Amino acid sequence: MPIIVQKYGGTSLANADLIKSVAARIFDTKNRGFDVVVVCSAMGDSTDRLLTLAREITEHPNPRELDVLLSTGETLVCPLVALALEEIGCPAISLTGIQAGIKTEPRFGRARISDIDPFRIHQEIGEGKVVVVAGFQGGTNEQEITTLGRGGSDTSAVALSATLGAIRCEIFTDVEGIFTADPRVVPNARKISEIDYEEMLELAIVGAKMQPRSIELGAIYQIPILVTSSFTNTSGTTIHEEVNVELSNRVRGVAYDSNVAKITLKSVPDRPGIAASLFEPLANIGVSVDTIVQNTGSGDITDLSFTISRSDLGLALETITPIARMNGALTVDHESALSKVSIVGTGMQNAPGFAARMFRALAEANINIDMITTSEIRITCIVREEQVKEAVSILHKTFELDQGD
Ligand code: ASP
Ligand code: MG
Repeated sequence: MPIIVQKYGGTSLANADLIKSVAARIFDTKNRGFDVVVVCSAMGDSTDRLLTLAREITEHPNPRELDVLLSTGETLVCPLVALALEEIGCPAISLTGIQAGIKTEPRFGRARISDIDPFRIHQEIGEGKVVVVAGFQGGTNEQEITTLGRGGSDTSAVALSATLGAIRCEIFTDVEGIFTADPRVVPNARKISEIDYEEMLELAIVGAKMQPRSIELGAIYQIPILVTSSFTNTSGTTIHEEVNVELSNRVRGVAYDSNVAKITLKSVPDRPGIAASLFEPLANIGVSVDTIVQNTGSGDITDLSFTISRSDLGLALETITPIARMNGALTVDHESALSKVSIVGTGMQNAPGFAARMFRALAEANINIDMITTSEIRITCIVREEQVKEAVSILHKTFELDQGD
């Protein structure tokens, strides 16, 4: 039978009644003639609660212990889902990441999946069972438990889909799909019925909620991903390769991310090797640096600014300040109340004028642009955090995203 992988997010599993209704949906899928592999995320906000608990005990939790702790959220919910399935007559078994054969590189907190051995899952499927796998976690060759970074269950689900040759990966969440903008910010945002991997990847990087790595994997292995609500029976958004070209000749969505901070190093020497000496240590501690702007130097010194996730600010400052000083930087400043707003669409590739319209619209609303970055299909402006929602609404209107496909 063809295999479908279904991933359920934390809000879809937040209590016993929700777990029962998830079980009913899974059983229904099985009864329609599919083998179903389920990937679960931790119940409700339990991952956040576990993190808070650890931080109440220590400011610098040991990453190994933190991963064992955080993985328990997913470990806990899977047997409950399996029990709910058995209760309605659907044979099922729950597996932890390690039991399911999910191997990762040895890096705590943000491990990448290195390999999946599907033997056990195939064996259980062969016995007619629904297999319920704990998302977000895996194990190293040394049997250490690792986690895949926040939102990592999406990646677990897509990686399993690829390994198992699933016909589709279905992501069940608390929203009806991917929208042209966050509907809480722009009430007339529209649901996008289909979007290609590249556009979705850009949207995921700058805001729409899916772990970007999951989209990358979907693109590499060509897994169609359906994002839909577990609370309603709507059609959702399909992420796949072939999107009608008619539909792609425009901005597809406006995304934002409020979790942005900026670090500025003033008067660093303008010579080869400085950027490397600053950014390598950040990479080594897993802080990813986003927008980088280096001013044209005057004489042989220059200023360097870059953005990172606000949640990484403390760690980044701790790491970079001594190195910057050693390299002769005069000051290390930071600003934490920033946000990114982006327009995304493959239609921007060959059509001029999108950037100009974006900047004009922001200017007319008196929104100052702090930094700008682009990819082939995205233009991103860094703005003050308190203005980002207004920026999203204005851009949604400017690019006529409230008007149908
Ligand atoms: N429970 C984890 C988190 O909250 C993983 C996930 O939800 O995908 O980040
Ligand atoms: Mg989650």
